[in-house]
Amino acid sequence: MPRFKRILLKLSGEVLMGEGGLAIDPAVTARVAGEIADAKAKGYELCVVVGGGNIFRGLAAAAKGFERATADYMGMLATVMNALAVQNALEQIGIDTRVQSAIPMASVCEPFIRRRAERHLEKGRVVIFAAGVGSPFFTTDSGAALRAAELKCDALFKGTSVDGVYDADPKKVPGAKRYESISYDRVLADNLKVMDASAIALCRENDIPIVVFNIREPGNLAAVLAGEGVSTTVRNEQETVNAGL
Ligand code: UDP
Repeated sequence: MPRFKRILLKLSGEVLMGEGGLAIDPAVTARVAGEIADAKAKGYELCVVVGGGNIFRGLAAAAKGFERATADYMGMLATVMNALAVQNALEQIGIDTRVQSAIPMASVCEPFIRRRAERHLEKGRVVIFAAGVGSPFFTTDSGAALRAAELKCDALFKGTSVDGVYDADPKKVPGAKRYESISYDRVLADNLKVMDASAIALCRENDIPIVVFNIREPGNLAAVLAGEGVSTTVRNEQETVNAGL
């Protein structure tokens, strides 16, 4: 019996990037799709939220003089491109998918309609949510937390390029310790860079555990779903530090 039935997988845009500097590397995207297909084969219902940071980040553009809201809309459009890339890679390996965008784009994909998304999941389709929450000044982390709450997901899996949450930056601080589990409150109080604060607060309110893991490692999504592999779970319970690391 799997731990969770329905999960939301949040992919940062950068996990689609390859070594060659391509924003969307077809081989890397195909590998990520393979990970999703493996999870699907284990019987999970899967929602996917894709970021856009590999193409455009509103905040970074605003720092260079763009008006923030306009830059954020551009960032949201970038997430639609990524969503289509992930859809394409999944369909090439026979996985049925639908993309739903928070910004309606009738010729490109479906608009976000919660009950329709629900039906797709029941039919075994992977539903990819694009454009975050559809408003500037938010991120796709918030979009992921919101969709996870709306679709009653049992957990939010955040696939990134680090293998969990550390008490300090492991790349800069030797001996930094990875948490096995950590509370939402601690993440917020210590300002740990897991997801943005509004996403953490939404998950806390709705009691949705956040599992942070490295999706760049082949086979890791299926392992972490099975409760194996290296990850950190953010939840309401007591926290534990992995002293061995
Ligand atoms: N964005 C936004 N509202 C949202 C989601 C995204 O304005 O609800 C914009 C924002 O500018 C952000 C960009 O889209 O920088 C790309 O998303 P994000 O940074 O979350 O992508 P990730 O870091 O996950 O790749």
